[in-house]
Amino acid sequence: MSLTLGDVVAVLDRHHPPETAQSWDRVGLVTGDPTHPVRRIHAAVDPTLAVVDEARRLRADLLVTHHPLLLRGVHSVATTNAKGRTVTDLICSGVALYVAHTNADVADPGVNTALADALGLQHVEPLVVEEGQPLGRVGELPAGETLAAFAERLDTVLPSAPGGIRVAGDPGAVVRRVAVLGGAGDSAFDAVRASGADVYVTADLRHHPVLEAREEAAGGPPYLVDAGHWATESLWLRTALDRLVAALVADGHDAATVETHVSEVRTDPWTFTVGATGPGVPTTGEHR
Ligand SMILES: [Zn+2]
Repeated sequence: MSLTLGDVVAVLDRHHPPETAQSWDRVGLVTGDPTHPVRRIHAAVDPTLAVVDEARRLRADLLVTHHPLLLRGVHSVATTNAKGRTVTDLICSGVALYVAHTNADVADPGVNTALADALGLQHVEPLVVEEGQPLGRVGELPAGETLAAFAERLDTVLPSAPGGIRVAGDPGAVVRRVAVLGGAGDSAFDAVRASGADVYVTADLRHHPVLEAREEAAGGPPYLVDAGHWATESLWLRTALDRLVAALVADGHDAATVETHVSEVRTDPWTFTVGATGPGVPTTGEHR
């Protein structure tokens, strides 16, 4: 019997239980008929129109994304707005959409364990527990390295984006204990301080929380790294697809021939950067 969307959703739900999502989140199957067959699965961080078009061109039956398409009340899915066009394109193209968001953040393996693994962290544990779920991770590098070397290495493991990687801290400071939280992470500074992390890798860091955190740290740890929302959440996609296919095969489904792709569309919304200054300019946090 051919593999159905319902079979795939059952495994995705098992790997990222919907009840582990934060209460405000909206996860699970968004479009699609669970009785329809699935032969090709596409995965992306964001369900943008370009990603849906890519899925359609690759003749995918299912698009798995990290971010929800619809998070707030919707009264129209007409093509007169972008979300409506996306829903319409998905349905007209026969592409089902499935979302694993905060339930993928907390999962193991999930978004944050993928980030921790890529950095080679050991003795990984939850950074903070929210609504009973482990959000973010903290672990140890096998050996200390300078903040500059660490940031360079992070750049090699993440997909690159025009915004690059922004670092707050002394480039020569040695770091070993690393906290990671893919996506927007400036609400977790207290947890990062409590964890004893030397450096915190996250994204979407804003001026005031960062400046205040650097002032509190008096130039010392935890140093802060804004590595981009899309980039920090991208690594999970390949892991999730491989694990999905392996589980389908282990469950006895005819899934060995299922094709999987990770999107090549960079959904980081920034297009280019000008005028960035390199290291060497002292900032407030580095003055004693
Ligand atoms: Zn995110």
